[in-house]
Amino acid sequence: MDTLDKDLQVEVYKKLYFVTEKLHSFLDMEALLSELFVFLREEFPNFSYNLFLSQVTYCHNDLPITEIDYDSENIAAVKVYGTGIMELEHLDDHTVLYVPLKGKQAVYGVLQMIAPITDNFKRYEIEYISLFAGSAGNAIENALLFRHSQQIILNLKLLNETSKMLNSNLQLAEALPYLSNQLKTAFDGQEIGFFLLPEDQRTVKILPGTTSFFFTKQAPIYIDYIKKEILRENESLFIGDLNLHTISSKSFQSIMAVPVIYRGAVRGFAVVMHQKPFFFPFDSFKLFQTLVQHSSLAIINSMLREELKRIVITDHLTKLNSRKFLDEKIEKSMMEDEQGAFIIIDIDDFKGINDKYGHQIGDEILIQVARLIKSCIRNQDVGARWGGEELAIYLPKVSLEEAVAVAQRLVEKVAQASKPHVTISCGVSHWHKDYKDSYQSLFKRADEALYLAKRSGKNKVVAQSGNIKAG
Ligand code: GH3
Ligand code: MG
Ligand code: MG
Repeated sequence: MDTLDKDLQVEVYKKLYFVTEKLHSFLDMEALLSELFVFLREEFPNFSYNLFLSQVTYCHNDLPITEIDYDSENIAAVKVYGTGIMELEHLDDHTVLYVPLKGKQAVYGVLQMIAPITDNFKRYEIEYISLFAGSAGNAIENALLFRHSQQIILNLKLLNETSKMLNSNLQLAEALPYLSNQLKTAFDGQEIGFFLLPEDQRTVKILPGTTSFFFTKQAPIYIDYIKKEILRENESLFIGDLNLHTISSKSFQSIMAVPVIYRGAVRGFAVVMHQKPFFFPFDSFKLFQTLVQHSSLAIINSMLREELKRIVITDHLTKLNSRKFLDEKIEKSMMEDEQGAFIIIDIDDFKGINDKYGHQIGDEILIQVARLIKSCIRNQDVGARWGGEELAIYLPKVSLEEAVAVAQRLVEKVAQASKPHVTISCGVSHWHKDYKDSYQSLFKRADEALYLAKRSGKNKVVAQSGNIKAG
Protein backbone atom coordinates (compact mmCIF):
# COMPACT_ATOMS: atom_id res chain seq x y z
CA MET A 1 0.00 0.00 0.00
CA ASP A 2 1.60 3.25 -1.09
CA THR A 3 -1.08 5.72 -0.07
CA LEU A 4 -3.09 6.11 3.08
CA ASP A 5 -6.83 6.05 3.49
CA LYS A 6 -8.52 9.22 4.76
CA ASP A 7 -8.74 8.22 8.42
CA LEU A 8 -5.10 7.26 8.61
CA GLN A 9 -4.12 10.45 6.84
CA VAL A 10 -5.93 12.49 9.48
CA GLU A 11 -4.16 10.44 12.16
CA VAL A 12 -0.74 11.11 10.60
CA TYR A 13 -1.34 14.86 10.28
CA LYS A 14 -2.51 14.99 13.86
CA LYS A 15 0.74 13.40 15.00
CA LEU A 16 2.71 15.76 12.82
CA TYR A 17 0.86 18.70 14.31
CA PHE A 18 1.62 17.60 17.87
CA VAL A 19 5.27 16.84 17.25
CA THR A 20 5.71 20.20 15.50
CA GLU A 21 4.19 21.97 18.45
CA LYS A 22 6.38 20.02 20.83
CA LEU A 23 9.59 20.61 18.90
CA HIS A 24 8.88 24.32 18.71
CA SER A 25 8.45 24.51 22.45
CA PHE A 26 12.10 23.55 22.99
CA LEU A 27 14.57 26.38 23.22
CA ASP A 28 17.24 24.02 24.33
CA MET A 29 18.96 22.25 21.44
CA GLU A 30 19.80 19.11 23.38
CA ALA A 31 16.22 18.45 24.45
CA LEU A 32 14.96 19.21 20.96
CA LEU A 33 17.26 16.66 19.34
CA SER A 34 16.38 13.92 21.82
CA GLU A 35 12.70 14.52 21.13
CA LEU A 36 13.37 14.29 17.40
CA PHE A 37 14.79 10.78 17.83
CA VAL A 38 12.01 9.73 20.19
CA PHE A 39 9.56 10.58 17.43
CA LEU A 40 11.54 8.78 14.71
CA ARG A 41 11.83 5.62 16.80
CA GLU A 42 8.14 5.62 17.53
CA GLU A 43 7.00 6.30 14.00
CA PHE A 44 9.61 4.41 11.99
CA PRO A 45 10.85 1.55 14.17
CA ASN A 46 12.06 -0.46 11.17
CA PHE A 47 14.47 2.13 9.85
CA SER A 48 17.79 3.26 11.20
CA TYR A 49 18.92 6.89 11.24
CA ASN A 50 21.82 9.26 11.42
CA LEU A 51 21.70 12.98 11.84
CA PHE A 52 24.39 15.09 10.22
CA LEU A 53 24.59 18.59 11.67
CA SER A 54 26.56 21.58 10.45
CA GLN A 55 27.80 22.32 13.96
CA VAL A 56 27.97 19.84 16.79
CA THR A 57 28.54 21.89 19.90
CA TYR A 58 26.07 20.25 22.21
CA CYS A 59 26.21 17.22 24.38
CA HIS A 60 24.30 14.43 22.61
CA ASN A 61 24.82 11.49 24.89
CA ASP A 62 24.24 8.43 22.73
CA LEU A 63 22.27 9.93 19.89
CA PRO A 64 23.49 9.08 16.38
CA ILE A 65 24.60 12.61 15.56
CA THR A 66 27.75 13.56 13.69
CA GLU A 67 29.09 16.74 12.21
CA ILE A 68 28.92 17.09 8.46
CA ASP A 69 32.30 16.22 7.09
CA TYR A 70 32.79 17.92 3.75
CA ASP A 71 35.62 15.59 2.84
CA SER A 72 33.78 12.42 3.77
CA GLU A 73 32.74 9.71 1.39
CA ASN A 74 29.14 10.42 2.14
CA ILE A 75 28.75 12.58 -0.93
CA ALA A 76 24.94 12.38 -0.86
CA ALA A 77 24.69 13.91 2.62
CA VAL A 78 26.99 16.78 1.67
CA LYS A 79 25.04 17.32 -1.55
CA VAL A 80 21.66 17.43 0.21
CA TYR A 81 23.10 19.81 2.80
CA GLY A 82 24.26 22.06 -0.02
CA THR A 83 21.14 21.96 -2.21
CA GLY A 84 18.47 21.54 0.44
CA ILE A 85 16.75 18.95 -1.79
CA MET A 86 15.88 15.45 -0.60
CA GLU A 87 17.61 12.44 -2.24
CA LEU A 88 16.92 8.75 -2.39
CA GLU A 89 19.74 6.28 -2.93
CA HIS A 90 19.07 2.68 -3.90
CA LEU A 91 21.78 0.27 -2.86
CA ASP A 92 21.99 -3.54 -3.09
CA ASP A 93 20.31 -4.50 0.14
CA HIS A 94 18.90 -1.20 1.42
CA THR A 95 17.61 2.19 0.45
CA VAL A 96 18.87 5.44 1.93
CA LEU A 97 16.86 8.61 2.21
CA TYR A 98 18.58 11.97 2.79
CA VAL A 99 16.26 14.70 4.04
CA PRO A 100 17.41 18.28 4.65
CA LEU A 101 16.56 19.95 7.97
CA LYS A 102 15.69 23.32 6.58
CA GLY A 103 14.68 26.52 8.32
CA LYS A 104 13.81 29.86 6.76
CA GLN A 105 17.40 31.05 6.67
CA ALA A 106 19.53 27.97 6.13
CA VAL A 107 19.90 24.21 6.06
CA TYR A 108 20.99 23.07 9.52
CA GLY A 109 21.58 19.42 8.88
CA VAL A 110 20.66 16.26 6.98
CA LEU A 111 18.67 13.34 8.32
CA GLN A 112 19.80 10.03 6.87
CA MET A 113 17.21 7.23 7.06
CA ILE A 114 18.06 3.70 6.05
CA ALA A 115 15.39 1.19 5.09
CA PRO A 116 16.09 -2.51 4.49
CA ILE A 117 15.24 -3.64 0.96
CA THR A 118 12.53 -5.81 2.41
CA ASP A 119 10.76 -2.85 3.91
CA ASN A 120 11.35 -0.06 1.46
CA PHE A 121 10.09 3.56 1.90
CA LYS A 122 6.48 4.07 0.89
CA ARG A 123 5.49 7.25 -0.88
CA TYR A 124 3.40 8.54 1.99
CA GLU A 125 6.27 7.76 4.39
CA ILE A 126 8.64 9.90 2.36
CA GLU A 127 6.11 12.70 2.40
CA TYR A 128 5.58 12.26 6.13
CA ILE A 129 9.34 12.29 6.81
CA SER A 130 9.78 15.30 4.60
CA LEU A 131 7.10 17.27 6.46
CA PHE A 132 8.56 16.20 9.79
CA ALA A 133 12.06 17.23 8.69
CA GLY A 134 10.67 20.63 7.69
CA SER A 135 9.19 21.28 11.08
CA ALA A 136 12.33 19.93 12.80
CA GLY A 137 14.45 22.32 10.68
CA ASN A 138 12.33 25.28 11.73
CA ALA A 139 12.47 24.24 15.37
CA ILE A 140 16.28 23.93 15.20
CA GLU A 141 16.45 27.38 13.63
CA ASN A 142 14.33 28.78 16.45
CA ALA A 143 16.49 27.20 19.13
CA LEU A 144 19.67 28.42 17.44
CA LEU A 145 18.34 31.95 17.05
CA PHE A 146 17.24 31.94 20.65
CA ARG A 147 20.66 30.78 21.79
CA HIS A 148 22.31 33.35 19.57
CA SER A 149 20.16 36.20 20.85
CA GLN A 150 20.86 35.14 24.42
CA GLN A 151 24.58 35.17 23.69
CA ILE A 152 24.27 38.63 22.13
CA ILE A 153 22.45 39.88 25.22
CA LEU A 154 25.19 38.45 27.44
CA ASN A 155 27.88 40.04 25.27
CA LEU A 156 26.18 43.41 25.34
CA LYS A 157 25.81 43.19 29.09
CA LEU A 158 29.49 42.40 29.40
CA LEU A 159 30.46 45.29 27.12
CA ASN A 160 28.18 47.67 28.92
CA GLU A 161 29.39 46.70 32.39
CA THR A 162 33.03 46.84 31.34
CA SER A 163 32.74 50.23 29.64
CA LYS A 164 30.92 51.67 32.63
CA MET A 165 33.50 50.37 35.05
CA LEU A 166 36.49 51.45 32.99
CA ASN A 167 35.17 54.92 32.37
CA SER A 168 34.57 55.59 36.04
CA ASN A 169 37.97 57.22 36.54
CA LEU A 170 39.67 54.10 37.80
CA GLN A 171 43.40 53.79 38.28
CA LEU A 172 45.14 51.34 35.96
CA ALA A 173 45.89 49.13 38.96
CA GLU A 174 42.16 48.64 39.57
CA ALA A 175 40.83 48.85 36.02
CA LEU A 176 42.96 46.08 34.55
CA PRO A 177 42.38 43.40 37.22
CA TYR A 178 38.67 44.05 36.71
CA LEU A 179 38.98 43.66 32.94
CA SER A 180 41.09 40.55 33.49
CA ASN A 181 38.30 38.93 35.50
CA GLN A 182 35.74 39.84 32.87
CA LEU A 183 37.85 38.24 30.14
CA LYS A 184 38.46 35.13 32.18
CA THR A 185 34.74 34.62 32.71
CA ALA A 186 33.63 35.58 29.23
CA PHE A 187 36.11 33.42 27.30
CA ASP A 188 37.07 30.76 29.80
CA GLY A 189 40.68 31.84 29.23
CA GLN A 190 43.41 30.19 31.28
CA GLU A 191 45.86 33.07 31.17
CA ILE A 192 45.18 36.77 30.64
CA GLY A 193 47.86 39.37 30.01
CA PHE A 194 48.11 43.15 29.52
CA PHE A 195 51.28 44.61 28.14
CA LEU A 196 52.49 48.10 27.60
CA LEU A 197 54.88 49.04 24.82
CA PRO A 198 57.10 52.05 25.48
CA GLU A 199 57.72 54.32 22.53
CA ASP A 200 60.84 52.50 21.36
CA GLN A 201 58.67 49.31 21.29
CA ARG A 202 61.67 47.24 22.31
CA THR A 203 60.81 46.35 25.88
CA VAL A 204 57.45 45.22 27.22
CA LYS A 205 56.02 46.27 30.56
CA ILE A 206 53.66 43.81 32.23
CA LEU A 207 50.60 45.61 33.56
CA PRO A 208 48.36 44.83 36.56
CA GLY A 209 45.67 42.21 35.99
CA THR A 210 48.12 39.93 34.17
CA THR A 211 47.92 36.33 35.39
CA SER A 212 50.77 34.37 36.97
CA PHE A 213 51.99 32.46 33.91
CA PHE A 214 53.26 35.68 32.31
CA PHE A 215 55.72 36.12 35.17
CA THR A 216 57.32 32.70 34.66
CA LYS A 217 60.44 31.77 32.72
CA GLN A 218 58.43 30.33 29.81
CA ALA A 219 56.41 33.51 29.28
CA PRO A 220 58.87 35.64 27.26
CA ILE A 221 58.66 33.19 24.30
CA TYR A 222 54.94 33.89 24.07
CA ILE A 223 55.14 37.61 24.82
CA ASP A 224 57.89 38.17 22.24
CA TYR A 225 56.10 36.12 19.60
CA ILE A 226 52.79 37.93 20.11
CA LYS A 227 54.48 41.34 20.18
CA LYS A 228 56.35 40.62 16.96
CA GLU A 229 53.23 39.37 15.15
CA ILE A 230 51.08 42.28 16.32
CA LEU A 231 53.65 44.89 15.36
CA ARG A 232 54.14 43.34 11.93
CA GLU A 233 50.61 44.13 10.77
CA ASN A 234 49.20 46.29 13.59
CA GLU A 235 46.44 43.68 13.69
CA SER A 236 44.87 41.29 16.18
CA LEU A 237 45.94 37.64 16.39
CA PHE A 238 43.63 34.64 16.37
CA ILE A 239 45.56 31.38 16.59
CA GLY A 240 44.27 27.90 17.37
CA ASP A 241 47.31 25.73 16.75
CA LEU A 242 50.35 27.61 17.96
CA ASN A 243 53.44 25.50 18.31
CA LEU A 244 56.38 27.35 19.77
CA HIS A 245 58.32 24.16 20.55
CA THR A 246 58.54 24.90 24.22
CA ILE A 247 60.15 22.26 26.35
CA SER A 248 57.78 23.13 29.14
CA SER A 249 54.78 20.94 29.83
CA LYS A 250 52.63 24.06 29.75
CA SER A 251 52.22 25.04 26.16
CA PHE A 252 49.45 27.25 24.89
CA GLN A 253 47.98 26.55 21.48
CA SER A 254 44.99 28.87 21.45
CA ILE A 255 45.80 32.57 21.51
CA MET A 256 43.78 35.70 21.01
CA ALA A 257 45.67 39.00 21.14
CA VAL A 258 44.39 42.51 20.42
CA PRO A 259 46.53 45.66 20.15
CA VAL A 260 45.77 48.80 22.16
CA ILE A 261 46.16 51.58 19.63
CA TYR A 262 46.58 55.25 20.52
CA ARG A 263 47.05 57.96 17.90
CA GLY A 264 47.78 55.37 15.26
CA ALA A 265 50.54 53.61 17.19
CA VAL A 266 50.42 50.29 19.04
CA ARG A 267 50.87 51.23 22.70
CA GLY A 268 50.17 47.83 24.17
CA PHE A 269 48.23 44.62 23.78
CA ALA A 270 45.88 42.29 25.61
CA VAL A 271 46.16 38.50 25.43
CA VAL A 272 43.92 35.55 26.30
CA MET A 273 45.38 32.03 26.07
CA HIS A 274 44.31 28.42 26.49
CA GLN A 275 46.33 25.22 26.29
CA LYS A 276 43.76 23.33 24.22
CA PRO A 277 43.95 23.75 20.44
CA PHE A 278 41.18 25.71 18.68
CA PHE A 279 39.65 26.50 22.04
CA PHE A 280 38.19 29.94 21.31
CA PRO A 281 35.33 30.29 18.83
CA PHE A 282 35.55 33.10 16.29
CA ASP A 283 32.65 34.90 18.00
CA SER A 284 34.76 35.16 21.16
CA PHE A 285 37.58 36.67 19.16
CA LYS A 286 35.24 39.31 17.74
CA LEU A 287 33.91 40.07 21.20
CA PHE A 288 37.44 40.26 22.62
CA GLN A 289 38.39 42.78 19.94
CA THR A 290 35.36 44.91 20.74
CA LEU A 291 36.04 44.72 24.47
CA VAL A 292 39.65 45.79 24.10
CA GLN A 293 38.73 48.56 21.66
CA HIS A 294 36.14 49.84 24.15
CA SER A 295 38.67 49.62 26.96
CA SER A 296 41.56 51.15 25.00
CA LEU A 297 40.60 54.69 25.76
CA ALA A 298 40.23 53.98 29.45
CA ILE A 299 43.51 52.07 29.53
CA ILE A 300 45.35 54.85 27.69
CA ASN A 301 43.71 57.48 29.87
CA SER A 302 44.81 55.88 33.08
CA MET A 303 48.26 55.27 31.62
CA LEU A 304 48.57 58.95 30.76
CA ARG A 305 47.19 59.95 34.15
CA GLU A 306 49.83 57.91 35.91
CA GLU A 307 52.54 59.28 33.63
CA LEU A 308 51.33 62.79 34.37
CA LYS A 309 51.42 62.14 38.10
CA ARG A 310 55.02 60.99 37.81
CA ILE A 311 55.92 64.08 35.78
CA VAL A 312 54.24 66.36 38.27
CA ILE A 313 56.07 64.92 41.26
CA THR A 314 59.52 64.92 39.66
CA ASP A 315 61.52 67.70 38.15
CA HIS A 316 62.49 66.95 34.58
CA LEU A 317 66.06 68.24 34.72
CA THR A 318 67.29 67.15 38.12
CA LYS A 319 64.93 64.19 38.67
CA LEU A 320 64.44 65.55 42.18
CA ASN A 321 60.89 65.93 43.49
CA SER A 322 58.85 68.90 42.39
CA ARG A 323 58.05 71.84 44.60
CA LYS A 324 54.42 70.73 44.76
CA PHE A 325 55.40 67.32 46.09
CA LEU A 326 57.70 68.91 48.67
CA ASP A 327 54.94 71.27 49.87
CA GLU A 328 52.57 68.36 50.37
CA LYS A 329 55.14 66.29 52.26
CA ILE A 330 55.98 69.15 54.62
CA GLU A 331 52.35 69.93 55.33
CA LYS A 332 51.67 66.28 56.08
CA SER A 333 54.74 65.92 58.26
CA MET A 334 53.85 69.10 60.22
CA MET A 335 50.54 67.48 61.09
CA GLU A 336 51.83 64.04 61.96
CA ASP A 337 55.41 64.25 63.24
CA GLU A 338 57.05 65.75 66.32
CA GLN A 339 59.61 67.84 64.47
CA GLY A 340 61.31 68.33 61.11
CA ALA A 341 63.99 70.36 59.34
CA PHE A 342 64.15 72.25 56.09
CA ILE A 343 67.29 73.12 54.11
CA ILE A 344 67.35 75.56 51.24
CA ILE A 345 70.32 75.33 48.90
CA ASP A 346 71.53 77.96 46.44
CA ILE A 347 74.51 77.63 44.12
CA ASP A 348 77.06 80.37 44.67
CA ASP A 349 77.80 82.76 41.83
CA PHE A 350 75.87 80.65 39.40
CA LYS A 351 75.33 83.52 37.00
CA GLY A 352 79.07 83.63 36.54
CA ILE A 353 79.19 79.87 35.84
CA ASN A 354 76.52 80.22 33.17
CA ASP A 355 78.34 83.15 31.65
CA LYS A 356 81.66 81.36 31.65
CA TYR A 357 80.63 77.87 30.51
CA GLY A 358 77.20 78.34 28.98
CA HIS A 359 73.74 77.33 30.16
CA GLN A 360 74.17 73.69 29.27
CA ILE A 361 77.14 73.20 31.57
CA GLY A 362 75.16 75.20 34.13
CA ASP A 363 72.39 72.60 33.83
CA GLU A 364 74.89 69.82 34.28
CA ILE A 365 76.10 71.37 37.50
CA LEU A 366 72.53 71.46 38.73
CA ILE A 367 72.25 67.75 37.93
CA GLN A 368 75.52 67.04 39.78
CA VAL A 369 74.34 68.91 42.87
CA ALA A 370 71.00 67.06 42.70
CA ARG A 371 72.88 63.74 42.66
CA LEU A 372 74.94 64.74 45.65
CA ILE A 373 71.76 65.70 47.48
CA LYS A 374 70.28 62.27 46.79
CA SER A 375 73.44 60.64 48.12
CA CYS A 376 73.20 62.63 51.37
CA ILE A 377 69.59 61.87 52.30
CA ARG A 378 67.56 58.85 53.46
CA ASN A 379 64.49 57.36 51.79
CA GLN A 380 61.98 59.21 53.91
CA ASP A 381 63.66 62.58 53.23
CA VAL A 382 62.60 64.69 50.27
CA GLY A 383 65.08 66.31 47.91
CA ALA A 384 63.38 68.84 45.65
CA ARG A 385 63.93 71.51 43.07
CA TRP A 386 62.75 74.66 44.73
CA GLY A 387 62.91 76.69 41.56
CA GLY A 388 65.66 77.86 39.16
CA GLU A 389 69.04 77.03 40.64
CA GLU A 390 67.67 76.71 44.16
CA LEU A 391 67.20 73.27 45.61
CA ALA A 392 65.73 72.11 48.91
CA ILE A 393 65.70 69.21 51.33
CA TYR A 394 63.06 68.31 53.89
CA LEU A 395 64.02 65.98 56.71
CA PRO A 396 61.04 64.71 58.70
CA LYS A 397 61.56 63.89 62.43
CA VAL A 398 65.04 65.41 62.38
CA SER A 399 66.50 67.96 64.85
CA LEU A 400 68.11 71.27 63.85
CA GLU A 401 71.59 69.99 64.78
CA GLU A 402 71.23 66.88 62.63
CA ALA A 403 69.93 68.93 59.70
CA VAL A 404 72.85 71.35 59.98
CA ALA A 405 75.20 68.35 59.90
CA VAL A 406 73.51 67.04 56.72
CA ALA A 407 73.79 70.47 55.10
CA GLN A 408 77.41 70.77 56.17
CA ARG A 409 78.23 67.42 54.61
CA LEU A 410 76.54 68.49 51.38
CA VAL A 411 78.41 71.80 51.24
CA GLU A 412 81.70 69.93 51.60
CA LYS A 413 80.82 67.29 49.03
CA VAL A 414 79.80 69.89 46.42
CA ALA A 415 82.95 71.90 46.94
CA GLN A 416 84.95 68.73 46.57
CA ALA A 417 83.19 66.85 43.78
CA SER A 418 81.61 69.39 41.41
CA LYS A 419 83.11 69.80 38.00
CA PRO A 420 83.54 72.59 36.94
CA HIS A 421 84.02 73.61 40.52
CA VAL A 422 81.12 75.33 42.31
CA THR A 423 80.15 75.88 45.90
CA ILE A 424 76.75 76.11 47.56
CA SER A 425 75.25 77.93 50.48
CA CYS A 426 72.53 76.52 52.75
CA GLY A 427 69.96 77.98 55.09
CA VAL A 428 68.47 75.59 57.64
CA SER A 429 65.22 75.95 59.59
CA HIS A 430 63.46 73.64 62.00
CA TRP A 431 60.01 73.20 63.59
CA HIS A 432 58.86 71.40 66.70
CA LYS A 433 55.32 70.60 67.70
CA ASP A 434 55.79 72.35 71.07
CA TYR A 435 56.02 75.70 69.28
CA LYS A 436 53.37 77.33 67.22
CA ASP A 437 54.64 77.38 63.68
CA SER A 438 53.54 77.46 60.05
CA TYR A 439 55.02 76.16 56.93
CA GLN A 440 55.38 79.61 55.36
CA SER A 441 57.35 80.69 58.41
CA LEU A 442 59.57 77.60 58.13
CA PHE A 443 60.50 78.60 54.55
CA LYS A 444 61.01 82.21 55.51
CA ARG A 445 63.44 81.34 58.33
CA ALA A 446 65.46 79.10 55.99
CA ASP A 447 65.55 81.83 53.36
CA GLU A 448 66.75 84.39 55.90
CA ALA A 449 69.48 81.99 57.02
CA LEU A 450 70.50 81.49 53.40
CA TYR A 451 70.71 85.23 52.93
CA LEU A 452 73.04 85.42 55.91
CA ALA A 453 75.18 82.61 54.49
CA LYS A 454 75.55 84.54 51.23
CA ARG A 455 76.28 87.79 53.04
CA SER A 456 78.93 86.20 55.21
CA GLY A 457 81.06 84.69 52.45
CA LYS A 458 79.08 81.80 50.83
CA ASN A 459 80.13 78.09 50.74
CA LYS A 460 78.63 77.57 54.19
CA VAL A 461 75.64 76.59 56.28
CA VAL A 462 73.69 79.00 58.44
CA ALA A 463 70.91 77.84 60.75
CA GLN A 464 67.86 79.88 61.65
CA SER A 465 68.50 82.35 64.42
CA GLY A 466 66.80 82.35 67.83
CA ASN A 467 63.93 80.26 68.94
CA ILE A 468 60.96 79.21 66.86
CA LYS A 469 58.10 81.33 67.94
CA ALA A 470 57.00 83.07 64.82
CA GLY A 471 53.53 82.20 63.68
P1 GH3 B 1 74.61 83.94 44.52
O1 GH3 B 1 75.89 83.38 44.93
O2 GH3 B 1 74.26 85.19 45.22
O3 GH3 B 1 73.53 82.96 44.56
O4 GH3 B 1 74.87 84.39 43.02
P2 GH3 B 1 74.18 83.81 41.77
O5 GH3 B 1 74.93 84.24 40.55
O6 GH3 B 1 73.98 82.36 41.85
O7 GH3 B 1 72.83 84.60 41.84
P3 GH3 B 1 71.37 84.07 41.81
O8 GH3 B 1 71.25 82.89 42.68
O9 GH3 B 1 70.46 85.23 42.05
O10 GH3 B 1 71.29 83.71 40.28
C1 GH3 B 1 70.56 82.69 39.75
C2 GH3 B 1 71.09 82.40 38.38
O11 GH3 B 1 70.99 81.01 38.12
C3 GH3 B 1 70.30 83.09 37.31
C4 GH3 B 1 70.21 82.12 36.20
O12 GH3 B 1 71.03 82.46 35.14
C5 GH3 B 1 70.72 80.82 36.78
N1 GH3 B 1 69.75 79.75 36.64
C6 GH3 B 1 68.55 79.69 37.21
N2 GH3 B 1 67.96 78.53 36.83
C7 GH3 B 1 68.81 77.88 36.02
C8 GH3 B 1 68.75 76.64 35.29
O13 GH3 B 1 67.78 75.90 35.33
N3 GH3 B 1 69.84 76.32 34.55
C9 GH3 B 1 70.93 77.12 34.47
N4 GH3 B 1 71.95 76.73 33.73
N5 GH3 B 1 70.98 78.28 35.12
C10 GH3 B 1 69.96 78.68 35.90
MG1 MG C 1 69.45 81.91 43.52
MG1 MG D 1 72.91 81.42 43.37
